[in-house]
Amino acid sequence: MHTQSITIQEQIHRIREQFPILKQTVNGKPLVYFDNAASSQKPQVVIDAISKYYETINSNVHRGVHKLSQLATDAFEAARKTIQTHINARESGEVILTKGCTESINLVAHGFAWSILRPGDEVLVSALEHHSNIVPWQMACERSGAKLRVIPMDHRGVLDMVTFAAALNARTKLVAVNHISNALGTVNPIAEIIEKAHAVGAAVLIDGAQGAPHTSIDVQSLDVDFYTISGHKAYGPTGVGILYGKREWLEKLPPYQGGGEMIATVTFEKSTYADIPHKFEAGTPNIAGMIGLGAAFTFINETGIATIAAIENALLQYATEKLQEVPGVKIYGTAPEKASVLSFLVEGVHPYDLGTLLDQMGIAVRTGHHCTQPIMDFFDIPGTVRASFACYNTFEEIDTFVAAVKRACAMLL
Ligand code: PMP
Repeated sequence: MHTQSITIQEQIHRIREQFPILKQTVNGKPLVYFDNAASSQKPQVVIDAISKYYETINSNVHRGVHKLSQLATDAFEAARKTIQTHINARESGEVILTKGCTESINLVAHGFAWSILRPGDEVLVSALEHHSNIVPWQMACERSGAKLRVIPMDHRGVLDMVTFAAALNARTKLVAVNHISNALGTVNPIAEIIEKAHAVGAAVLIDGAQGAPHTSIDVQSLDVDFYTISGHKAYGPTGVGILYGKREWLEKLPPYQGGGEMIATVTFEKSTYADIPHKFEAGTPNIAGMIGLGAAFTFINETGIATIAAIENALLQYATEKLQEVPGVKIYGTAPEKASVLSFLVEGVHPYDLGTLLDQMGIAVRTGHHCTQPIMDFFDIPGTVRASFACYNTFEEIDTFVAAVKRACAMLL
């Protein structure tokens, strides 16, 4: 049994109470939800904010003169403001609503392919990236004639910063790296990456899909050019995300999609575009989603990102120690700076079989390549089992999980 302080247990209890889904059983067992890196659960305040929008002010934004449209616009823009404050952006115009990190990255990659990249230019990504931060850059390079280069990592999942520094040169136009790896949990040294990239005049995009739910973000002190957020991983709804971009960059990049909302004037000869953020928000946005995302960031602020990080670090440390008790276990991702992701394999056991048996015991984990095939290739494995923790998970759940892994392996070996 764990020996964590009572305060941390009480904090978890208070947080957990706010998540209705966690009270249910799955396959006849209390749900143990350890698939948070794929999508976190939602607190009641987020669910309520979405329902309240539909129950009381459902209407289109930015166009109606009528009361409901004004109220919906106010709620939508208030959510943008909450996110602006949370990440310390200079102005709310720098906070673009997207479908998620994938769309945020594609938006920037599209703009770079059209307006910035030229044949011979270089884009640097890291060996730790999610497919969402590889494929859009490959497409941008194919379109523009630029070259994609990769910052290597070592066997712990730590980026090789010496090779990174050596790879930077006057042709490097953009460096795209994740804040935290979804497959291995590595927390990347993004401040150092940004500083070094800026020294050669390259812009930096940080994929914050796993960063935003676990750490504080200050885009001004980081001096980052683009930072992407995935709503559904940060206690918010699915189908919403954020692209933070510096005004200078967002003004320079062309629109991603054309349509209503993003224009200033339209004639058949030529259209002119609206100012940011609307230039990048063509069509009716996900209004309920944005309002839900605002509520999610209010939840994060009220809980305290430091409290969230402290809980998750304690859970990760405890789970890492406990899991070593399983004979034949190997943990992938052993960086000194790690967030709450525990990827592993058990010798002789296929990850899919283990995941399936854990599911029968009410435990939700992710198995497979986690949309990071190059990482799996690096380790020469087909995939891993991944347990990822959020601030509502408990030490008892980790005990249940480790006991279940032992039981499943006994059945499979
Ligand atoms: N980057 C990372 C590191 C991720 O973990 C994910 C989601 N698994 C994404 C990008 C894609 O995010 P979204 O689901 O918001 O498109």
